[in-house]
Amino acid sequence: MIETDIYLKSTYEESRESFRSHLDKIKEKWPNAVITSKSIGKEENTIDMIYAEALTTNKQVLFFTTGEHGIEGYAGAGVIHLFVEEYLDQIDPHTTGICLIHALNPWGMRHFRRVTENNVDLNRNYIYDKQSVPKDINENYSKESDLFLPNGKINDLQQEKRKLYTQLSKALVTTGYDGIKKAKGMGQFEFERGVYFGGRREEPSTTFLKSIQKKLLANFNRVIHMDWHTALGPSNEITMVISNLDQRDEDELKSYYQLKNIQLFTGEKVKGDSTHYFHKVKTEEFPDTELFSALFEFGTFGTGKKAEFREFQTIVLENHLYWEGASNEEDREWILNEFKEMFYPDNPHWRESVITEARLGIEAILSTEKILHK
Ligand SMILES: [Zn+2]
Repeated sequence: MIETDIYLKSTYEESRESFRSHLDKIKEKWPNAVITSKSIGKEENTIDMIYAEALTTNKQVLFFTTGEHGIEGYAGAGVIHLFVEEYLDQIDPHTTGICLIHALNPWGMRHFRRVTENNVDLNRNYIYDKQSVPKDINENYSKESDLFLPNGKINDLQQEKRKLYTQLSKALVTTGYDGIKKAKGMGQFEFERGVYFGGRREEPSTTFLKSIQKKLLANFNRVIHMDWHTALGPSNEITMVISNLDQRDEDELKSYYQLKNIQLFTGEKVKGDSTHYFHKVKTEEFPDTELFSALFEFGTFGTGKKAEFREFQTIVLENHLYWEGASNEEDREWILNEFKEMFYPDNPHWRESVITEARLGIEAILSTEKILHK
């Protein structure tokens, strides 16, 4: 079997089964390790977690989360598997605990969608302080609602694509494009069938992760968190995305971790991000605990305007298809395939890059943070 097929699974159930089987290996180092399965939503979907405290003192914990964006969980689960195979032996179980989470959005992972069964982008659902959400948060979105909201069955895909392309290009030469990008970062909290919906209330997955974040901040002196995603950044490369609440600037982070691609974001540009929330809880409620928390993305479409257009088109069409359907089977397949190309491509080159770039990211962060010892 080729290496990528060992790590990158094709169905949610296969991936979950593989994750559950890691427990035996982890127990060899942490006999106290336990696995829990939290059921989420109406189907047989679960968030699975392997957790172990350090054997002597809870100096630090290594925390991996995957599948916050459903379909992106396949690559994330592959990273956890790779980590268990290749890096477990380099960790001191006496001072280091471990917390690995499979599929924060299990419904999305099972159905190859990014969002939850309530159409919620989980990474727009973590609001620490409701006051910080501007009253006009939905304004940019409303202006472009033509673009973002599904309207009728897809009868002619070529026509839909032309319409989208015209809207985006028009927006680009006016101020509209800025608004579109803002709408993406801020999410929206009004249109339940629209893209980038942050939800009207807290999702069960959010409640679950918040409780784990607090538990780790309370039980350990330091928490090292890597949240695994796909799509953003240069193709076939890893990009670290980190909240400005980390306090360090981009150059500092680049030279400290020796990583090529790093993006900072602020609470003013992105609302409801789970790592941003994590930093906020640390600062407000656990000021003595040390926290490193960032997202790690495996790039697909790449960067630049062309890639950006393709991303918008893919996100909008997939959402449109989900709610309204398409008359032609080929159109339906084209859209679903394009969506997979964006978040979990079949391309062998990309699949290999997930493994090699994951090694790079794991080593950059966990060696620098002294979790790994050679
Ligand atoms: Zn993501």
